[in-house]
Amino acid sequence: MADGTLVDVLNSAHPVLTTVTMKLALWIAEYYISRPIEAINALLPAPLKTTVQDFVELCEFQLQSGTEKIVTTTLRKKILRALQESNKPTVRQLERKLGKHNLYRTLTVMERGGLVQLKKKFPQSGPKTRTAYRLRPNLSDEVTEPLKRAPRQAEAVEKMRQSPHASLFAQDNGIARQTLESLVKKGIAEKIRVEIQSSFSTGFTEPKKIIEQLSSAQHHVLKELSDAFHSGSFTPFLLHGVTGSGKTIVYIELLKQVLESGRNAIVLVPEISLTPQTASRFRQHFGDDIQILHSAMSNQEKYDAWQNLRNGKARIALGARSTIFAPLCNVGAIIVDEEHDAAYKQDRTPRYHGRDTAVMRAKLEQAICVLGSATPSFESYSNAEKGKYRLLRLPDRVDNAAMPAMKLVPMLENRRITPSLSEVLYLQIKERLKRDEQVILLQNRRGFAGSVLCMECGHITMCKHCNVPMVYHASSRQQRCHYCGHAVAFSGNCPKCSSANLLYKSSGTERIAEELRELFPEEKILRMDVDTTNTKGSHAIILNAFHKKQARILLGTQMVAKGLDFPDVSLVGVLMADIGLNIPDFRSGERLFSLLMQVAGRAGRAAIPGEVYLQAYNTDNPLFAHLLRGSYEAFYQEEMVSRKELHYPPFTRMVVIEFTSPDETAAEKAASACVDHLRSYLKRDSCHILGPAPAGISRMKGRFRYQVLLKLQSRPLAADYLKHLQYSLMNTWKKHHLSMIIDVDPQSL
Ligand code: ADP
Ligand code: ZN
Ligand code: ZN
Repeated sequence: MADGTLVDVLNSAHPVLTTVTMKLALWIAEYYISRPIEAINALLPAPLKTTVQDFVELCEFQLQSGTEKIVTTTLRKKILRALQESNKPTVRQLERKLGKHNLYRTLTVMERGGLVQLKKKFPQSGPKTRTAYRLRPNLSDEVTEPLKRAPRQAEAVEKMRQSPHASLFAQDNGIARQTLESLVKKGIAEKIRVEIQSSFSTGFTEPKKIIEQLSSAQHHVLKELSDAFHSGSFTPFLLHGVTGSGKTIVYIELLKQVLESGRNAIVLVPEISLTPQTASRFRQHFGDDIQILHSAMSNQEKYDAWQNLRNGKARIALGARSTIFAPLCNVGAIIVDEEHDAAYKQDRTPRYHGRDTAVMRAKLEQAICVLGSATPSFESYSNAEKGKYRLLRLPDRVDNAAMPAMKLVPMLENRRITPSLSEVLYLQIKERLKRDEQVILLQNRRGFAGSVLCMECGHITMCKHCNVPMVYHASSRQQRCHYCGHAVAFSGNCPKCSSANLLYKSSGTERIAEELRELFPEEKILRMDVDTTNTKGSHAIILNAFHKKQARILLGTQMVAKGLDFPDVSLVGVLMADIGLNIPDFRSGERLFSLLMQVAGRAGRAAIPGEVYLQAYNTDNPLFAHLLRGSYEAFYQEEMVSRKELHYPPFTRMVVIEFTSPDETAAEKAASACVDHLRSYLKRDSCHILGPAPAGISRMKGRFRYQVLLKLQSRPLAADYLKHLQYSLMNTWKKHHLSMIIDVDPQSL
């Protein structure tokens, strides 16, 4: 491709109010394979640089000194001297040595003049390792006994005992390296090198399940899909199939046909580490024909993966949202599993929605696109209602397995055994354990504070950068901000009035795990949340342990709700099922409904019937009535009425324009100016303009945030205008360090 074309495309696609276009990204990918990235980067509009940054990391350049020539500028002289002094430095090393950024341009010019030689070098990365600590084997209790006087060390020992890896990394677990080192000195712990998982292995060793025959419903769906595929034209489908209805096997059968006919395919999953089972099932069927893309890959692996896909060694790309840009040609089918998942939206630049991009790419490639979910996004369901997508259904579970029975536990009327557990749920858990079945417990973390409230003076510690309540972490005795990571030590007393009468407003997973350990001292309890999964591969380790029944209780956040298929799970308990309703977000109902359906779907997937207990305070909410009946359709219809009244998507297109600056007045002024402009420019009936208002989190990382919210009847109308606005503000921006972010279809406000 000629440079001219690329530049033209980039300019015309400047992503103001457009998500990054697929073609564009494909071209970048193509282009990257043959050029130095910096050359491409120089051509790009700012918002796209981040995408390319990912590619940039794939290669390093090496310099070789070339023929001696007369060099005029000082910089060039310096460069040559540096080259003579060190052996084949990389560009980065040179930059560091000379204290100068962007040496790249100079170097390319020098290369053209034959002064130096640039050599592309792909970093060779062996397995990455890290130091971990583990208890020495066969440790007697006498050795650890004296630790009572060293609480930190005792805590570390306890953690190592409970860790699913049987070892710990320092820091990650809120334990200082020093503490662990002292344990090594005392002969209690030892240091080991642990390989950080970089090549993808799902950690799942499931035996391959032979499915003799598709059910008639599955068969029907497959036929519709394959007919559309063989017709060779773009067809988007929405596959609405309840949890356990066997969607995965339908995808696999479809893909077999796609490969047979000589075309290629893309499969998107929300988060690969959370769905190792799905990934491993595809792998079992397609072996090396499938290339799994995931964020834990090393640069070398990424590069190999891209090459494999590009030259046809692998023919199916499977991975999270960015996999939609995979450099495959002749794509015949695109599958978006769990299409409702918010993880498909990238909320940093370039802001694109993986699902929408999938539909777009399918259109460009004349492929079929299958969006699958048990609880489709309202956008997709309404597209199906309008006939834009073809709706296919799998209303029943395979093998006549029943949908789990759901029960509501009103917390205000029920006796509690511990602060977070009702007697009803406790008895159920006990019963299942007696029958040697498994239990999944969900604590919905979304919109859940975990903050500390002083009962004396009402003080709540807020993050000084982000204006959100800080969250208490018992393991490190700190309060931390979940947006920016700022941490302060927690003394156990109110920082304002020193009172010790504090209320831990709500209990997180860590606290619930403690309660469970007291109730079931004999049980091993697996905990899956951000704290226990911050090292690579830890999801798989926890899931694998549960899968092998090394533990019978799995407690976790949203992570436990996704795509798990464990035959022995007969009970799912949700500790605070209504907690997600209070978030100021118009999608909170939709999100909660889908989360609860999803987690409920983990129960009773095989022979043992499943039951779901939902503990809640606010049980009158109509959402629960629909949920207990398992009726997505009824819930959807009811919600759509209020969406329509309030002009929310899918009836409108929502756009958030956010202005941020370290100077609060500047941010506010820019936002008001924007509103005035918009009012005079846009027709009243085509658009609702809200704001300006401080964003939900009014200050983040030291910047004030003001937002303007648009609900547009049609999308193209405002595009030109916003582009214009962005340019006209350019000068003011620079003065006040202002920045403007335009987010189309924001997933959270
Ligand atoms: P979904 O993705 O719709 O939740 P899965 O594809 O995970 O459902 O299927 C649920 C379970 O049913 C899996 O264990 C799968 O192996 C099994 N299964 C799917 N189709 C059939 C079939 N036709 N016969 C027997 N078992 C099946
Ligand atoms: Zn913060
Ligand atoms: Zn106080």
